Amino acid sequence: MPLDFRANVSRRIDERADELVELARELIRIPTVNPPGDAYTPCAEFIGARLARRDFAVRFERGTGAPGDNERYPRTNVIARKEGHGRGPCVHFNSHIDVVPAGHGWSLDPFAGELRDGRLYGRGSSDMKGGLAASIIALEAILDEGVRFPGALELSGTVDEESGGFGGVGYLAERGFFSRPRVDHVIIPEPLNVDRVCIGHRGVWWAKIETHGRIAHGSMPFLGNCAVRHMGAVLERIEQNLIPRLAQKHTRMPVVPEGAKRSTINLNSIHGGLGEDYEGLPSPLVPDSCRMVIDRRYLIEETPEEVRQEIVELLETLKRERPGFAYSLSEVLHFRPTLTDAEAPVVRAVSAEIERVLGRPAQQVVSPGTYDQKHVVRTGLLKDCIAYGPGILDLAHQPDEYVLIADMVASAKVMAGAALRLLGVIAP
Ligand SMILES: [Zn+2]
Repeated sequence: MPLDFRANVSRRIDERADELVELARELIRIPTVNPPGDAYTPCAEFIGARLARRDFAVRFERGTGAPGDNERYPRTNVIARKEGHGRGPCVHFNSHIDVVPAGHGWSLDPFAGELRDGRLYGRGSSDMKGGLAASIIALEAILDEGVRFPGALELSGTVDEESGGFGGVGYLAERGFFSRPRVDHVIIPEPLNVDRVCIGHRGVWWAKIETHGRIAHGSMPFLGNCAVRHMGAVLERIEQNLIPRLAQKHTRMPVVPEGAKRSTINLNSIHGGLGEDYEGLPSPLVPDSCRMVIDRRYLIEETPEEVRQEIVELLETLKRERPGFAYSLSEVLHFRPTLTDAEAPVVRAVSAEIERVLGRPAQQVVSPGTYDQKHVVRTGLLKDCIAYGPGILDLAHQPDEYVLIADMVASAKVMAGAALRLLGVIAP
């Protein structure tokens, strides 16, 4: 019987629980708020310097030309790679370093990393600096145990996940960083709860609808054609016809929470008339334009063509029925649903380690919203990708966000065990 690497690595992680918490706190204290994309470079350098001390080869890749990238807010990503002994697979842990703005309603400082009752508070504690810290400690524990492994261990800290990931994983995936043979298995420590493996996400289609009218004096609206009233008719159809139809569509994808097992639409924003351009001062005009952005989340059973066609039909019906109705429709953003095979190696490895560490079976779930997996799967063409991390899904983007210290420690053990399985150091 060889040395029980896994037990020894787990013991090391337990011994380093305080260090894990300290690392997560230090990350929370770097305010990588997006937008605008603050402090990316110091955060990437902090991660790089830490892993360089364990002899990782560290490189920085700036998402030059990506949305938001400029000299003041460079989109700095870090990739750290440790080669093993001989040929073998590469296991990659990818975390986004950006956090959403703190917003209102906090009862403590969102960037202090305060500890209370076994919880670490702060913006990004759950989403996802707690997961990033856990993955760093997991890799360090493997290396410090002196485990000889084939292949490679890799970790990246990437930017802009909260705004689509184009300067982060999207940028890197286009340049081959998330493709074979460079990388084989990817674990993204997003906050999906400590005992769940996230195997995919629903699709997303954002579109802009504009209704057109004709400008006229506000005292004689009958001489114009009101674009806002036309948009009102669009809203009514969405309310009366579309939303009930979407609620009928159920998916076999194991989406959480329950409400997201159906198709959904959010009316993201609506603007009509000239007020918005004139500092809110009203102008006595019949509005000739009204614009609305819709956020449609769709299921793997639906096709993007169907999703678009539903909206087109709704608008075309109004065009036939309403005098003076004219519209334009444009796509703002589109990502198809993704679903990793439940039997894929990374799913099996992480599920088995969850059961071993937590003593209960892992739950396989699908995320209601997209995350960087889309770039790995669609652009990198790498299917062996999941999300697994210690954060609590419902707390992401909320005031008083926190992560449980016990969950960070448990997830680090799961990540280390899964990496050892995927590398073939312990039996899969
Ligand atoms: Zn996240």
